[in-house]
Amino acid sequence: MSAIYLHIPFCKQICHYCNFYATASTKYRKGFVEALLQEMDLRHDYLEDKTISSIYFGGGTPSLLSTTDINALIDKIQHSYDVADDVEITLEGNPDDLTEDPIKALKNETPINRLSMGVQSFFSDDLQYLNRVHDGKQARQSIEFALKHGLFHMTIDLIYGIPTLTEEKWLENLEIFFSYGLPHLSSYALTVEPKTALDVLIAKKKMAAVDENQSIRHFEMLLEQTKAHNYIHYEISNFALSDQYSRHNSMYWLGGHYVGFGPSAHSYNGYSRQWNVSNMKAYMEADIAEKVVAEKEVLSKNQTYNEYVMTSLRTSWGCDMVHVNHVFGSAYVKHFESHIHSFVEEGKCRKEGNTYLLTDYGKRFADGIAGEVFLNVEG
Ligand code: SF4
Repeated sequence: MSAIYLHIPFCKQICHYCNFYATASTKYRKGFVEALLQEMDLRHDYLEDKTISSIYFGGGTPSLLSTTDINALIDKIQHSYDVADDVEITLEGNPDDLTEDPIKALKNETPINRLSMGVQSFFSDDLQYLNRVHDGKQARQSIEFALKHGLFHMTIDLIYGIPTLTEEKWLENLEIFFSYGLPHLSSYALTVEPKTALDVLIAKKKMAAVDENQSIRHFEMLLEQTKAHNYIHYEISNFALSDQYSRHNSMYWLGGHYVGFGPSAHSYNGYSRQWNVSNMKAYMEADIAEKVVAEKEVLSKNQTYNEYVMTSLRTSWGCDMVHVNHVFGSAYVKHFESHIHSFVEEGKCRKEGNTYLLTDYGKRFADGIAGEVFLNVEG
């Protein structure tokens, strides 16, 4: 099973923390869907006839697309690929776009069957800190409209570690989420990436700085609360009721193949990774035959091992030594086990059968632990 990702880079305004490829300019809106359709033709063979089990409209803000555009893109995929009957089709959207009529139209006029809503917080002061377009009331209304019109297969994003977000407010955000009975939550720590507006504003002391201890406390509360409400913590930032995992993201984490269309979109077919140019002008104005692949790398064995370690340790499926032995060989198992040993002793990892998993305590150190068991990428 494989996946298709479509990057829709347009946003009404740029959030202070945004580190994705997104633009508030409308200059290239006209003609963008046509360019995506052309790119699909150009790179049709990338996935080598694999069945598509997930289609994902990400961004940017895909909820800015019209239903006509959404249907044109899905029709193209349906005609160009072998698409599974139960394909998961996710659209990311923001509460300011997802008012009642657009939600009704998505439900009744398109095959979208999963919504990913960028709520981030139900409090307007947190949303102002982040420079989001919507407010707390719109966030609630949007979820309620989606539930009212039968789009139950929904996930929302919540951000913790915002300086304006007290522990009481964070708990209330989680309680509001639980009250809707939604099957899935993605929750991320606010990170200040270099050169973002937030980075600049904090440096100029125009906005409060992010406190790492506050983020850690919020993360602990997140784990406690989701566990108490029976959500499975199946990836560092993702929680699901029963088995209602995100099929699309799970495919990334389990090493599945995917092709990405649109500026900055990434693709992976098992042995090489490539990514499109992160520039609308270049994407839209380049000759069709040249427009897409900005860079391509063929992964070395060590890089493939590193990627497996990085993603698997972040999931509830863990890092499986039988898999490592089968795919990479016994020397890799030996390397992994000799380097993970100290983390097991510190209570950050545990071993179940042949699999290593992060403990709740270890989850906050996930990237650092993975880094310690990496191998030199040249190998
Ligand atoms: S909505 Fe998402 S992609 Fe758009 S500016 Fe905000 S964080 Fe970036």
